[in-house]
Amino acid sequence: MEFRFSPEDEAFRQEVRAFIREEWPKAREGASFTKKLAAKGWLTMSWPPEYGGQGAPHMRQLVYNEEMAYHRAPGQTMGADRVGPTLILFGTEEQKARFLPAIVRDEITWCQGFSEPGSGSDLASLQTRAVRDGDSWVINGQKIWTSNAQRADYMILLARTDPDAPKHRGITYFLVDMKLPGITVRPLVQMTGQAGFNEVFFDDVRVPADMVVGEVNRGWYVSTATLDFERSGIGRVIGGLRTFEEVVAYAKSTPARDGRERHALRPAGGAGGAGGHRHRVCGGAADVVPGGVDAEPRAGAEL
Ligand SMILES: Cc1cc2nc3c(=O)[nH]c(=O)nc-3n(C[C@H](O)[C@H](O)[C@H](O)COP(=O)(O)OP(=O)(O)OC[C@H]3O[C@@H](n4cnc5c(N)ncnc54)[C@H](O)[C@@H]3O)c2cc1C
Repeated sequence: MEFRFSPEDEAFRQEVRAFIREEWPKAREGASFTKKLAAKGWLTMSWPPEYGGQGAPHMRQLVYNEEMAYHRAPGQTMGADRVGPTLILFGTEEQKARFLPAIVRDEITWCQGFSEPGSGSDLASLQTRAVRDGDSWVINGQKIWTSNAQRADYMILLARTDPDAPKHRGITYFLVDMKLPGITVRPLVQMTGQAGFNEVFFDDVRVPADMVVGEVNRGWYVSTATLDFERSGIGRVIGGLRTFEEVVAYAKSTPARDGRERHALRPAGGAGGAGGHRHRVCGGAADVVPGGVDAEPRAGAEL
């Protein structure tokens, strides 16, 4: 079996790298960069053409994700990677027509309202309630750790719609306009001074009934599809490789403080050649071995 990327994929890698080199330094913030990615069709390259995608094969998407993550450029959006694919699978035709083109053009931003103060790993125990009232669902409760809620236009929200059913079978998946009355977003400031996460409070928020994704009380199964799309990302692995390389560079450039022999970081499988190629796909697995520092930056580190 041949584990190399095809010449076409490698040529695409160079194209993506050249684009990042040219455009990412010029972008003042992530949003203006992702707009340019949207204009090239790259944000949603793997979507089917009938939904505005390019039907790109998996390896092409992987190459793209690797390059963006390695160079710490915001090459992915939650809409393109999680919400859109979920709507393609479970959304109504109206939901697809309303949201998918806006996601392809990067005109709409999303956040994920799943976790609650008492429901993290055991997500299905969530307590936020949604009660049907005419053409709306009335939502009350609280979410936490909601990344980017302070900037998002919409939230994908899980709420309990049948408190008497077994916990996985009484949850419904909603699309919620963050401007609806009754929503309060409170940023959680981290020790860095930044606020990447938020608490989000719902106080009698009326969500139109046509904003339910999939069937009422079957939202758990829709959410696991969303989480599958999130888990399939290669980005964090390759981001780890970059961090590994920086640790190696730091170790190389920093003299030992107490005169003891330094320990070296050596990539498993050796540096360069096929070993380097393996690292690109598998991430920065590393052995810590005594002796000199022995690792070179991988392709792309020149940016
Ligand atoms: C960077 C980041 C971004 C996030 N963004 C979002 C977001 O946008 N939207 C959102 O909804 N959530 C978000 N989250 C929240 C995330 O989904 C939760 O942190 C996660 O579900 C774990 O829940 P918890 O933090 O409450 O930990 P807990 O569930 O309290 O777990 C704490 C520890 O206990 C362990 N543990 C839990 N249960 C068991 C058990 N039964 N047996 C043994 N060990 C156990 C866990 O492994 C963990 O080590 C984000 C989290 C992070 C780190």
